[in-house]
Amino acid sequence: MMFPQNQLSSATAAFGQFSVAQAGNMFSRKHPSGFEPIVVEVAPRTWFIQPGMVNVALFETDEGLILVDCGCAGDGPDLVKAVRSLSDKPLTAIVYTHGHSDHAFGAWAFLEAGETPEIIAHENLVEHFRRYMLTNGLNAAVNGQAGRHDGPAWAGESETDFDWPTRTFSGDLLELTVGGERFELRHGKGETDDAVWVWAPERGVIAAGDLVTGYFPNAGNPKKVQRWAAEWADAAEAMAALSPTVIIPGHGNPATGVEAIQDELTTMAAYLRHIQDHVVAGLNDGLLPDHIIESLEVPQEYVDHPRLPQVYDRPEFVARNVVRRYSGWWDGYPSHLLPASQEEQAAEVAALAGGVSALVKRATELAETDLRLASHVAEWAFLADRTDPAAQDCYADVLEKRAAAETSLMTQVNLRVALRWVAEARKAGVNKDDDSNGAAQ
Ligand SMILES: [Zn+2]
Repeated sequence: MMFPQNQLSSATAAFGQFSVAQAGNMFSRKHPSGFEPIVVEVAPRTWFIQPGMVNVALFETDEGLILVDCGCAGDGPDLVKAVRSLSDKPLTAIVYTHGHSDHAFGAWAFLEAGETPEIIAHENLVEHFRRYMLTNGLNAAVNGQAGRHDGPAWAGESETDFDWPTRTFSGDLLELTVGGERFELRHGKGETDDAVWVWAPERGVIAAGDLVTGYFPNAGNPKKVQRWAAEWADAAEAMAALSPTVIIPGHGNPATGVEAIQDELTTMAAYLRHIQDHVVAGLNDGLLPDHIIESLEVPQEYVDHPRLPQVYDRPEFVARNVVRRYSGWWDGYPSHLLPASQEEQAAEVAALAGGVSALVKRATELAETDLRLASHVAEWAFLADRTDPAAQDCYADVLEKRAAAETSLMTQVNLRVALRWVAEARKAGVNKDDDSNGAAQ
């Protein structure tokens, strides 16, 4: 599997003990991360555990344990070992912070080991799992799953692919008392609409799930369902209002120290609100989505914040997601309403330019000074004639050069779709040459 160096460094920056093999087989119980879990006692009887790309929080009380999240399917056995090396109290509850593949699929190992926890989630999580069942092929593709080693590429071929919650709650709060200690399960929305974060008031600790990750929020993923920037800001402010001393995030390192945490949460909230407000104002002014995105300016202190680097998502993608939330799918250009195919448009541009080779030449020139613009010209050349070797090379070179200059994993991955298309076109070309009938593929 191709995994370019800057994608690996972005993934490692975002996800800690990131394993390429596990990331391509997220539902495989036989694909652990290959790392020893990192275990840190961040407060008395409170542990941060990082088995792989995701974090887990463990609270021990006199009566039993609360585990917040349980990792990817392949993390399950290592988590059982880690938890049982820390405490022999019964596992009272597993809380799912949301239904994502890296957080809610390791519970099977606890159940197989004979543990009998309640599995607690917000009621929206059930819908999240149901959506996985409806769109499991889509999700496998969108998430680049190799899959099919010992199970489905993405959960959802059957109900038994999930460890369903045994208890759900509606509304914003579920109070849980274990060992005489109160825990608050708070519902929010951010990366998903089923988010839960756990507040342990006697310890000053929040287990935040992906509402806190130590990098710029994944609130605008280009190929994924709606994210919730405004509610994410609400959740960050609600956390800040509690003055926590430790946050165990869904990914990355723990956040510690009241002041640093306040700074992180309030800056994150302001950053998201800034994007949300810019888009809503633009929509209300009747601007085209493209013009709203182009005119987005982010204050430098947000961009430079050490806990909000753009290693995964980008502000422009969050802005697009806000546009999508409040408006329709159309980008507002009349010709785009019922468009000619991109290939027809590209062929016309190529003809006007004097041929595909003219586009290749221009894209190559532009790549020296403006990779964004060069990407369009290179794409026209390729779409005008996918069989043209020079157009293939140019498209792959320009888009790779651009991806290599990016820090955000989602930008890198999606720009590199061009490389896959070029590889497919080259393969189709070889197959065509081999075909004695000469039939087009
Ligand atoms: Zn996550």
